[in-house]
Amino acid sequence: MSGLQNLAILGATGSIGLNTLDVAARYPQRFRIFALSANERMDELAELCLRHRPRYAVVAHALQAEALGRRLQSGATEILTGPQGLERIAAHAETDCVMAAIVGAAGLAPTLAAARAGKKLLLANKEALVMAGPIFMEAVRSHHATLLPIDSEHNAVFQCLPDAFSGELGAHGVRRVLLTASGGPFREVPLERLHSVTPEEACAHPNWVMGRKISVDSATMMNKALEIIEAHWLFGATHEQIEVVVHPQSVVHSMVEYADGSVIAQLGNPDMRTPIAHALAFPERIEAGVGSLDLTRIGRLDFSTPDFVRFPALRLGYRALKEGGTSPATLNAANEVAVSAFLERRLPFLAITAVIEAVMNELRPRALSSLADVLDADAAARRHAALRVEAMTV
Ligand code: NDP
Ligand code: MG
Repeated sequence: MSGLQNLAILGATGSIGLNTLDVAARYPQRFRIFALSANERMDELAELCLRHRPRYAVVAHALQAEALGRRLQSGATEILTGPQGLERIAAHAETDCVMAAIVGAAGLAPTLAAARAGKKLLLANKEALVMAGPIFMEAVRSHHATLLPIDSEHNAVFQCLPDAFSGELGAHGVRRVLLTASGGPFREVPLERLHSVTPEEACAHPNWVMGRKISVDSATMMNKALEIIEAHWLFGATHEQIEVVVHPQSVVHSMVEYADGSVIAQLGNPDMRTPIAHALAFPERIEAGVGSLDLTRIGRLDFSTPDFVRFPALRLGYRALKEGGTSPATLNAANEVAVSAFLERRLPFLAITAVIEAVMNELRPRALSSLADVLDADAAARRHAALRVEAMTV
């Protein structure tokens, strides 16, 4: 797409949102910051509005809107509220490109709205795809949206697939998709220590600076579990075709293996501005502010098989994918509840996956044919997970 593109960033105050602004602001001739959203970080949103002067800003509720309005004064930015506001900017006739970077299930409705409006959709919010895979992909197809993955692994896979990828791996001679995983901060921590690790330790990722929820997901490896399901929907890979490879340096962002034995990998410094720039400018390439990869300084790249005992979340991810239907939505919702409880110090680290597994055992998967089915499964899993958390709280 040439000319000036109007960019709407859902979750502008987050890690992905700010990285997106960093890249987009380098190209004022290419991207206009059309709309920004935030949930709690109002000071940050006010600053972003003053700097980028978007047409719209979306906040959670009316009190925030009033306070933001007083700070902005100029009237250059119209302030909208709540889920309707998010859906409005996602589907707005003048929006060309949507960065879906709200964390968790809260991002589903506006991300789906962008797909249904046929937008160029940059997907960071993996939870939306995990919850509602078939409905989401059908919306992308039938409304001719352009879906570009931002998750570094999926962006890497996308780059390793042929340009004219049809959505069917077999048709292109693809044998396997190899998702790399850093293993997070607890890859080598003695197992007995995992009982007492804190939110601060869990959020101190060795290679990436990310929001707190995805940081905890990386520490449990639930992030990779969600990514297995994400890869299934994005690339049509079956559970047998998706393999997780632990790669602590986070330099190889993922790989695609072909029938002839070729393995194509995408490498780079671990910096989210690379996949963001790739998707923003696709199919062109633009400068993202990311330095050159110095392999001679890194010296070695290590790979190993994941430890399914230390990281039971991986097993749950494959299980949810195999079960299908509402199972991924159940997994995702239970995880969101358990991670929040851990971050609030109400649940020990190892209980996160225990809660999720218990909820998956209690709520058997059902067929998923509408958004209502997704939302029902999400609500039920949240109720069950909350009860489990309560029972485990000391
Ligand atoms: P952050 O926590 O840093 O940011 C989340 C954003 O969502 C913030 O703008 C936040 O607003 C907003 N938000 C949170 N809750 C709500 C809600 N209920 N309603 C509306 N907006 C809300 O997360 P990240 O940027 O790290 O991650 C965003 C998404 O991208 C996640 O789905 C994550 O899995 C995915 N992702 C992130 C990567 C990374 O490197 N960070 C890599 C790959 C994927 P506020 O801050 O104002 O409260
Ligand atoms: Mg990732």
